Amino acid sequence: MLQQTQVATVIDYYNRWMQKWPTLQALAEASLEEVNELWAGLGYYSRGKRLQEAARKVVSELAGRMPRTAEDLQKLLPGVGRYTAGAIASISYGQATGVVDGNVIRVLCRLRCIGADSSSPAVIDRLWDMANALVDRSRPGDFNQALMELGATVCVPKAPLCEECPVKQHCRARRRVEKELGLASRRLLGTCPPVPDVEDCGVGGCPLCPPATEPWDSSLGVTNFPRKAAKKQPRAARTAACVLERRGRCGAPQYLIVQRPSSGLLAGLWEFPSLPLALGLQEEKQRELLADHLQAWTGRPVAAGGLRYVGEVIHIFSHIHQTYVVYSLPVDGDVTLDPVSSPSRWVTEEEFHASAVSTAMKKVLKACEKQRGEQNGSGKVSKRKRGAKPGGAGSRPTGTQLSLHAFFRTPSPQ
Ligand code: SF4
Repeated sequence: MLQQTQVATVIDYYNRWMQKWPTLQALAEASLEEVNELWAGLGYYSRGKRLQEAARKVVSELAGRMPRTAEDLQKLLPGVGRYTAGAIASISYGQATGVVDGNVIRVLCRLRCIGADSSSPAVIDRLWDMANALVDRSRPGDFNQALMELGATVCVPKAPLCEECPVKQHCRARRRVEKELGLASRRLLGTCPPVPDVEDCGVGGCPLCPPATEPWDSSLGVTNFPRKAAKKQPRAARTAACVLERRGRCGAPQYLIVQRPSSGLLAGLWEFPSLPLALGLQEEKQRELLADHLQAWTGRPVAAGGLRYVGEVIHIFSHIHQTYVVYSLPVDGDVTLDPVSSPSRWVTEEEFHASAVSTAMKKVLKACEKQRGEQNGSGKVSKRKRGAKPGGAGSRPTGTQLSLHAFFRTPSPQ
C-alpha cells in the first residue's frame, strides 16, 4: 500500500484491510471483487490482487507457512519483488539481508557519490551489494528500517539536514561539497591547481560516476546525487465513456456499470461502458463509434444523436495520460449489457462509490453531476458542443430523459 502512496492516505486503508482480513487464511478466502472494493482509490490495483493471490498460495500450497528467506519469498509468492522480499525477511524473520527502496537509493548514492543514472542496472546492482554488506547482522530489521527512515526524514530529496545526520562523517557527497568550497576560495585567491580532479575528468566510462555531460553543479551541493534518468513521458490515450442514467424507485438516479476483464489494466474493476479511441478523432466520429459499441453490446440500435456530450476528464495513471471523453444517456427503462462479454449492473450513487471503481470513474461521474447541477441551477439549455448538430442531445432541454424507444431508435441517414 505504501509503495506509491503516503502514510496519511494509507492508514485508513490499512486499518480497514486488517480488520476485514486479520489473517492470511481470511485473506485467502476473499474474492477479487472484495479486494478491489477495499483497494479502490489506492491505485495500482494489481498489487491488491497479487497480495490476495499470495495469501491463497501460502494457505493452499505452502500449508499456511510463509517462506522465511528473501530468496524463497521472491521465488514462491506472486507480486513479491526484491525489495518486499528483503523487507519481510529482515524485519519479520531476522534474516541479515539488505533492502533498497527510493530512500535507500538516495542515502547510498550520497554516501558514496554515485552519480550515474540511479535506475541503471549497474548502479542498482551495486546498491544492493552495498545494502547487503552494510546490514547489521544482529538487528537487520531495525537497521533496514533506520536506513529507510534516514532517507525519509534527514537525507531528504531537496534540502537534506546534513548537520543533523548521524552518518555525516562517512558521507562522500558532503566531503565533496567541502572540497568544492575549498577549491572555490582558492580560485578566488588564484592558487587553484591547473590539473583537474580525477572525479571531474569524465573519462574511463565508469558505470557509477556522473556522466561527463552532467558535471558537478555547485548550486546543488549534496543533491547532485543521485542522478535520475529523464522521466519517460506517459503515453497519451483517449477513451469514450458513457454514463447511462435512469431514475430509481424514489426518483434517485441509478447508473449502469460494467466489469472490466479480469486481467490487464484495472483488472476486475467496474466502470461506465467505455471504448478506447484512436487519437485525433472528431467529436462526431467518437460519438458514432460509442453508439455502435453500445449497440453491439445491447444488440439493439443506438442513435449517436442520443448521446449527450459532458466534457473531457483527464486522469494520469503512472504510464498513461488518459483522457475520457464523457457522454451521458438518460433512459427511462431497464438496459442491461450482454452478461457473457461484460457483467453489468445498475447502482445508486452510494452503491457506485462503495463498488470497486477507479478514481478516474469517480471523476467521470462527478463531471456528469456537475453538468446536471449547472443545468438544474440555471434552468438553461446546455451549450451545444462545437460541431455538434442542432437537434442532437447537446441541444435538448435539461433534465429531459430519452425514452427507451428514442434511445434504441435506428439512426436516421445523415
Ligand atoms: Fe545525506 Fe547529508 Fe547525511 Fe550525507 S550527510 S547522508 S547527504 S543527510
